[in-house]
Amino acid sequence: MDIDRPADLTAALQALEQVPDATLLAGGTDLMVEVNFGHRRPEHIIALRRVEELAELNGTIGSGVTWARLEGGPYKALAQAARTVGSPQIRAAGTIGGNLGTASPAGDGLPFLAALDATIELRSASRARRLPIDEFITGVKRTAIEPGELIHSVILPEEIPERQEFGKVGMRNAMVISTVMACVMRYDDGRTRVALGSVATTPLRARRAEEMISAQATPSEADLTEFQRLVSEEVRPITDHRSTESYRRHASGVLARRLLERCLS
Ligand SMILES: Cc1cc2nc3c(=O)[nH]c(=O)nc-3n(C[C@H](O)[C@H](O)[C@H](O)COP(=O)(O)OP(=O)(O)OC[C@H]3O[C@@H](n4cnc5c(N)ncnc54)[C@H](O)[C@@H]3O)c2cc1C
Repeated sequence: MDIDRPADLTAALQALEQVPDATLLAGGTDLMVEVNFGHRRPEHIIALRRVEELAELNGTIGSGVTWARLEGGPYKALAQAARTVGSPQIRAAGTIGGNLGTASPAGDGLPFLAALDATIELRSASRARRLPIDEFITGVKRTAIEPGELIHSVILPEEIPERQEFGKVGMRNAMVISTVMACVMRYDDGRTRVALGSVATTPLRARRAEEMISAQATPSEADLTEFQRLVSEEVRPITDHRSTESYRRHASGVLARRLLERCLS
């Protein structure tokens, strides 16, 4: 196995240009599990750890920013999500770019990005291009990255509501892959966003629930109940070893309602 350790972005992109199907390694907390289980046998690895430009957190979120940094970062719901990822060791190594690269339905960073309609910037030696997150993640562990490209950064919109909450339901409180997770945001003018994970092949926005509750300046108990019902109706979960379809559907509505109540309080 060949390993390149470029020292900067230009060198990383040049290395990728020479071997466009090289495997990118950030924190390794997903990739090395795959390698250890024999599911992947990369022949050529490009390790991004030394590329400082990818670790910038300054208006945009560099793909190499770790969960440990996001825990104390400026985005409340993303910090809440970061605190639930793995253990301190995983959070010290794992990155938002790796979460996007894996594109698991259970990726804890993804509902926050979906709620904000974040944009993903991809770079190759010859070009930069930007994709909305719902075009970037194309299916379970599938993305629109092309050979020769890497995830450079995440670009968030200028307007980000202060009222934002993330929550996760799992079998236990720590070191758990979620059964359901959600991120709810409420803008000052009432616009509300709700994005959920682990309930569809890709992060899911509950658009009908958003539309209904956004129209309520001061949601009543009945509005909250309807919001909960709509979220439960809109998700598209499956039954697997972590949970049943019906429990995920129920938990989605309850979790989204609780997060909305926190945004409103
Ligand atoms: C014990 C344990 C607990 C975990 N708990 C959680 C959890 O609670 N929540 C959660 O969401 N995840 C969890 N994970 C999964 C993992 O930690 C996260 O998905 C993490 O964000 C992956 O980041 P990384 O930097 O380690 O990625 P890596 O393993 O380095 O890479 C992951 C994938 O992304 C690709 N990639 C990495 N960087 C780039 C880039 N810049 N451009 C293009 N592709 C790239 C890699 O080629 C690879 O395919 C856990 C993992 C372990 C081992």
